[in-house]
Amino acid sequence: MTDLASNTAKLAPHLAALRETGIAHRIGGQDVTGATFTNHSPVDDSVICEVARGTASDIDAAAQAAKDAFPAWRDMSGTARKKLLHAVADAIEANAEKIALCEAWDTGQPIRFMAKAALRGAENFRFFADRAPAARDGQHLPSPTLMNVTTRVPIGPVGVITPWNTPFMLSTWKIAPALAAGCTVVHKPAEFSPVTARLLIEIAEEAGLPPGVWNMVNGFGEEAGKALTEHPAIKAIAFVGESKTGSMIQAQGAPTLKRVHFELGGKNPVVVFDDADLPRALDAAIFMLYSLNGERCTSSSRLLVQESIAEQFEAELATRVSNIRVGNPLDPQTEIGPLIHETHWKKVTSYFDKAKSEGATISAGGTCPDGPGHFVNPTFFTAASNQMAIAQEEIFGPVLTAIRFKDEDEALQIANDIPYGLTAYVWTQDITRAMRFTGGLEAGMIWVNSENVRHLPTPFGGVKASGIGRDGGDWSFEFYMEQKHIGFATGTHKIPRLGA
Ligand code: NAD
Repeated sequence: MTDLASNTAKLAPHLAALRETGIAHRIGGQDVTGATFTNHSPVDDSVICEVARGTASDIDAAAQAAKDAFPAWRDMSGTARKKLLHAVADAIEANAEKIALCEAWDTGQPIRFMAKAALRGAENFRFFADRAPAARDGQHLPSPTLMNVTTRVPIGPVGVITPWNTPFMLSTWKIAPALAAGCTVVHKPAEFSPVTARLLIEIAEEAGLPPGVWNMVNGFGEEAGKALTEHPAIKAIAFVGESKTGSMIQAQGAPTLKRVHFELGGKNPVVVFDDADLPRALDAAIFMLYSLNGERCTSSSRLLVQESIAEQFEAELATRVSNIRVGNPLDPQTEIGPLIHETHWKKVTSYFDKAKSEGATISAGGTCPDGPGHFVNPTFFTAASNQMAIAQEEIFGPVLTAIRFKDEDEALQIANDIPYGLTAYVWTQDITRAMRFTGGLEAGMIWVNSENVRHLPTPFGGVKASGIGRDGGDWSFEFYMEQKHIGFATGTHKIPRLGA
């Protein structure tokens, strides 16, 4: 991954292969295709390949394959599943460069971040593989008359629906625990970023995953995605995407009583008090918004900065943001690549005019570079109030909105005055304030004096419109498994006799 020219050359054979084969569904270990749609690169709008456009009958075939494969996969010993999932992780690592290059070209995410995506994906597989042998463990809860025991059993075939931002890592994050728990899977990747989902399932099958344990149907949300959420053989839906899609899925899944797990949108505050380590707070605020093109659910997209330090902090931030390097995502120097798609580019850039009409100041960016591709210059809005659309709505691009606050009470009120509640970041040297303030914050995940540093045993998820349920640690297994209680009589306790 040394420079643009060598990365472009290394990607070329993979692109040629994709153009030739296209991307088919993978159902029961077989390629299945039919009608297709065309997948483009956000870098220059060039065609990457044709992709199978899944229908309700493709979903039905995939759900049936997952149902047929379920009993054997459920009954395989945890240690055997552990071994297989480690083999998948090994194969992901062996393909890390190909995955990174393809992901960068398909999504526009800079290679400097995508180089680690495959390794994060492999780590997800290893983490849940190691927990597979103990996944069914339960408790012993004796009563005077019964020996009560609990165990966990996998819920059945599940649907996994993923978005286009960091699609490789997110797919592994959802699918690895499902497989480790003993569930079989039908995956519906995002239509804008199908390439690495295909690589991932190929890798898993080559590593020895039995056919039908993991199936993939491409296509659009309102067709393939909707059919998956409605299918009676699918027992649960793990979904990552927008909040409004989450509520549609909940309605679609209601007639079949789907269990749902939602990781949804965010508009996360980073709160900087005047006693903070300001250089570190500045680095973290910039990293958490402008990395991954700002297309990141946990991004710190609202900067809440204390009035006494605001002017200087905002000025330094604007200078740094103006220096961020926008360019081809295959260039290791690039810090921001193109946005995923023209429709998303239009949405993000529409906030430039909204900011002006709402009376905010554009302190950096607010423009787009000339030339093809869905590029935007990193943008920083100041002089905003929390009621403005630029402060309330998830923009999901390299666009940060700064809002000033007087004191702790006002900071908390602004931080919580939002429909979302995914993450929050707090910068202060005062430990007592940090404890008090984090206690009042409405967010599923909070970091104090730190950017988002993910630790897989911790719970991941949001409150309010940001989600339902948690991933990570044992929480993932709680979603993909059912608790089962069995009571064994230990004697001849009195049974009420009716009609005797
Ligand atoms: P999206 O909701 O538009 O699409 C996500 C997936 O849902 C896609 O595969 C899509 O095809 C499918 N889908 C769309 N309509 C559907 C329907 N009616 N039934 C079933 N499936 C349907 O989201 P996106 O634009 O791809 O991704 C960006 C969003 O994802 C942002 O809001 C971001 O915050 C969120 N996100 C959240 C997390 C988290 O962990 N909380 C992580 C990453 C992304």
